[in-house]
Amino acid sequence: MATLNCPACSKLNQTEAACTRCGCDLARLRAVMAAAKEALAEGRVSLQTGDWAAALSWSEESWRLRHTVEAARLAFLAAGAMGDTRTAATWHRHGAEA
Ligand SMILES: [Zn+2]
Repeated sequence: MATLNCPACSKLNQTEAACTRCGCDLARLRAVMAAAKEALAEGRVSLQTGDWAAALSWSEESWRLRHTVEAARLAFLAAGAMGDTRTAATWHRHGAEA
């Protein structure tokens, strides 16, 4: 299970379902993180098979769940592959902000 910081108090937690300091629900956060990671994995498969539209859609889904550089980069590559420079530029910006 991934190590993460409590979003409420920033305490670094290991495997607890709730923050040991403030009791914040971390299980829910982990589920969102896992879903974002899965969407990213699907997007990478789509990119490898040349399905740019699906790759872009999956990376947007991943980004919606969690703002990561990886999701923005995947969307950037997918949009670029489709020749959509405007969308690619937008994702390039998102990647810098993530
Ligand atoms: Zn906490």
